[in-house]
Amino acid sequence: MPITHRVYNFAAGPAVLPMPVLEEIQRDLIALPGVGMSILEISHRSKTLESIMAQAEADIRALADIPDNYRVLFLQGGASLQFSMVPMNLLDAGAVADYIDAGSWAEKAIDEARKVGQVHVAASTKAEGYARIPEPREMTFSPGASYVHITSNNTIEGTQYRQLPDVGDVALVSDTSSDMFSRPIDVRRHALVYAGAQKNMGPAGVTLVIIRDDLVRRAAGRKSSLPTMMSYAVAAEHGSLYNTPPVFAIYALGLVMKWLLAQGGLAAIERVNERKAAALYAEIDRSGFYRGTAAAPDRSRMNVTFRLATEDLEKRFVAGATAAGLDGLKGHRAVGGMRASIYNAFPEDGVAALVDFMKDFERRHG
Ligand code: PMP
Repeated sequence: MPITHRVYNFAAGPAVLPMPVLEEIQRDLIALPGVGMSILEISHRSKTLESIMAQAEADIRALADIPDNYRVLFLQGGASLQFSMVPMNLLDAGAVADYIDAGSWAEKAIDEARKVGQVHVAASTKAEGYARIPEPREMTFSPGASYVHITSNNTIEGTQYRQLPDVGDVALVSDTSSDMFSRPIDVRRHALVYAGAQKNMGPAGVTLVIIRDDLVRRAAGRKSSLPTMMSYAVAAEHGSLYNTPPVFAIYALGLVMKWLLAQGGLAAIERVNERKAAALYAEIDRSGFYRGTAAAPDRSRMNVTFRLATEDLEKRFVAGATAAGLDGLKGHRAVGGMRASIYNAFPEDGVAALVDFMKDFERRHG
């Protein structure tokens, strides 16, 4: 069988998946061992899917040390639907929800929450182009807020929280779409964590939600007034099987979780991620030819954003890199420049290849 040529995929998501996961999917695609049917064909009410979901949940719980008083849900609609589900289920009537506005996706979450209820922006770095995470002393939380919402990693601007804000007893809700399982996560300090799978956890189509029981109860109070498909309480009661779930995406996510466990879990993958990011930032900082766009203390280890002196040079950089097998380096259209997304499954030799390309490009254009 010819081996398909694979480029280094720096895309922000959907993104690169671990080779052993792709190989297992390929090997078992026609018939799951012992089942005689493809994962694409099995019933969502089958014992097979039941055990695939149970195993994926067990592995997620083991990886992130999730306490028993949290539910693990597999939902659809992407992280974007969570922008609506969070306030619809959790923003109490007459109360306010606090949001930290530290990136373009945080702003989208705020826009959706405002359609549902009262929002207070507890801190914002929008005026600085979201180049940094607000300092704790800049955050003004509302007394009695229904929850505080943060975005743990700002995919577009390339910043990441190093420490969680101290929100006291208020429920902390975090959109971890672009750094979920890239480092240890203290679930106990969160009331709800959500993430689209398509960056660090699997293919597009499934959204992971980890929600504490008291929030499920809060959501249960709204059940009769919410669309059924938008209720955390319904999803929790039915074990994410109220309707047909994204079977294939959950299966593939489960394989990625197995792969992560085999890498040594979250502390081990964090060390690899730190190494990859450090190599790239060192090259960005080496000579001044490249310019990192994120404030150094807040630099993301997942999405490395940088610029060149002119847009014309940036175009040439991206085109040259693509030709050299380094794909997906164009920055988000909202901010321009370059972005190297180096999620868990992105290989270290791909980072080395980009560093070599950067050095060579500087020699030719510096
Ligand atoms: N939040 C963050 C931090 C993201 O990076 C993205 C997608 N890039 C989203 C939300 C939206 O995710 P989805 O496409 O799954 O709705």
